[in-house]
Amino acid sequence: MKTKRPIARIAHAHLYVLKIVWQIDKKRVLLQFLERFCTVYEYLIYGAIFTQVILSLVEKNLEFQTMFALLWAGFLPRAVIHIYLQYYTNMASPVSDVRFLEGMTRLLYEKACLADLTCFEDSEFYNQYMMAVREAKARVPKMLYDISDMIVSFLAALTGFYMIWRMNRYALLFIILPILGNFVFNGILSGRLFRLERETIIFKRIADYVNRTIHLADYAKEIRLSNVFSLLGRKYDESVKAEQKAVRRYAPVNLLLFFCFQYFTFTLLFNGSFLYAGYHTLVTGSMVFAELAVFQNFMCTNTWDFLYSAEAAVENIKNSFFIEQIEGFLNYEPKIPEDADGMIPERTIRTITFSHVSFGYQEGRAVLKDVCLELHAGQHAALVGFNGSGKTTLMKLLLRLYDPDEGAILVNGTDIREYNLRAYRSLFTAAFQDGKIFADTVEENILMGAHQTPEQDAQTVWKALKLAGMEEEVRSWDRQEKTVLTKEFSREGMVLSGGQSQKIIAARAFAKDCPVAVFDEPSSALDPIAEYSLFANILRFSGERMLFFISHRLSSVRNADVVFFLENGRITERGSHKELMEKNGKYASLYRTQAKNYLA
Ligand code: ADP
Repeated sequence: MKTKRPIARIAHAHLYVLKIVWQIDKKRVLLQFLERFCTVYEYLIYGAIFTQVILSLVEKNLEFQTMFALLWAGFLPRAVIHIYLQYYTNMASPVSDVRFLEGMTRLLYEKACLADLTCFEDSEFYNQYMMAVREAKARVPKMLYDISDMIVSFLAALTGFYMIWRMNRYALLFIILPILGNFVFNGILSGRLFRLERETIIFKRIADYVNRTIHLADYAKEIRLSNVFSLLGRKYDESVKAEQKAVRRYAPVNLLLFFCFQYFTFTLLFNGSFLYAGYHTLVTGSMVFAELAVFQNFMCTNTWDFLYSAEAAVENIKNSFFIEQIEGFLNYEPKIPEDADGMIPERTIRTITFSHVSFGYQEGRAVLKDVCLELHAGQHAALVGFNGSGKTTLMKLLLRLYDPDEGAILVNGTDIREYNLRAYRSLFTAAFQDGKIFADTVEENILMGAHQTPEQDAQTVWKALKLAGMEEEVRSWDRQEKTVLTKEFSREGMVLSGGQSQKIIAARAFAKDCPVAVFDEPSSALDPIAEYSLFANILRFSGERMLFFISHRLSSVRNADVVFFLENGRITERGSHKELMEKNGKYASLYRTQAKNYLA
């Protein structure tokens, strides 16, 4: 946080919101202030000032027709105000809301797409991101409303003070009552309600969790096939009881505070001031009946203006906390900006070199340690090793999803950080084992937005499906490559098995014509026969391309030009399959164990 003092932070959040709204929709700021001004001042002018004018005219014994004409003339601006308020509520505000939603969504999406992958692993950033997404669209217009309400209501309250002071300055003492009621009693009450909320939030979350698990399909199998339902039910009961206990503990004092707040803010003020003005009208005769009515109107509108202004100020303090989260997110600068400019790489790749590369997702926990390797044009490399040894991480670094902490990755002798990021990434086609299927057609899931002519698209899609071993299956579907995947938007949507999804992800990689291919465990969900043919096709597809592939099935590795065996983030063995078998190290031992299991 840039500023530390709370008032400065709150003021900063206010200005920040006004800046954002101004950027997206200038007119909204002006119209919102005008709406508050019209609403708040209408009460003050017509409830008090206009009544005062009318009554003073009555006292002057004007003719009825003149009075009538003046009355209507006075109501004309009120009609205009109402037309404007209707226009704002039913037209200007909804139209601006849509524009605003679009503007805010675009700002957030752009930021989210540019964020480093590390951010999504940083729970603080992720919470901030989720809160920004959840709150931004509603919170920013709300804060604009609260800011305008606070300012305009406060101005109206000052105007009211001045009017009362002119009529009877001692009457201003009555204003102390709502101040006492609101700031002292309601202030303590709000603090206690906030503490109660904080204490019970954990119980609400437990109850919410139980509710979710019971209604979500993801948990339906376990709930039906085990006794977990009784466990969840017990958790639910306990959380509800704990919440009730906390509410009971707070309730007696809260009741008393609420009574005092109401009594001082409304009852004593309205009845007391009426008694006071009545006394001056009937006993001392220093006020006439007309003044009594106007005085009472001023007291009412003034109290409300004052309360609204205070309420809006409290709301703004709450809003500023959320706005800080949104600002933090929108001001975030990615370490690897997706639009990073630099040299445009050649599309002929001669060498890829990892030079003393070390990397860790968290500080002090290196996942890759001093990795050195070099691959030459057309070579096919297999990365093997136990789970968690760092194979996928190595590929993520190559694709520049992360940058090394130490050392460098060079492509054709140039540090990859010097290349234009988009142009650099376009050198690679990649399939990861956790690749995702999007709610769209098979064709779109393979082309991923890279369209040419319809004929060329069809050719690319079917060729890719064939290499992935999915051609026949897709041809047998009614809508073939136009079949929609997932049931997200269509009841006819096709839900794929793990193996089918993996084939579509592999087809996606086959559909891109790039000089380097990366396949990370592309077959973990496939049966052995499908796996064998997929690896044969990966090698066929790669041909003259450079290829990195990761596989837990060592039989698929035999044809690689070079095998790198990773252990705890280090390359401990390297060479061709034959060389590594001759070396008789860990690779050879693992290979023999797998082969034995196969034979068995
Ligand atoms: P492999 O592909 O060899 O199975 P990975 O490269 O996926 O291994 O993971 C290497 C290590 O890095 C593992 O210990 C894993 O837990 C850790 N790791 C992987 N991804 C992340 C991540 N996003 N955040 C933190 N640690 C991670």
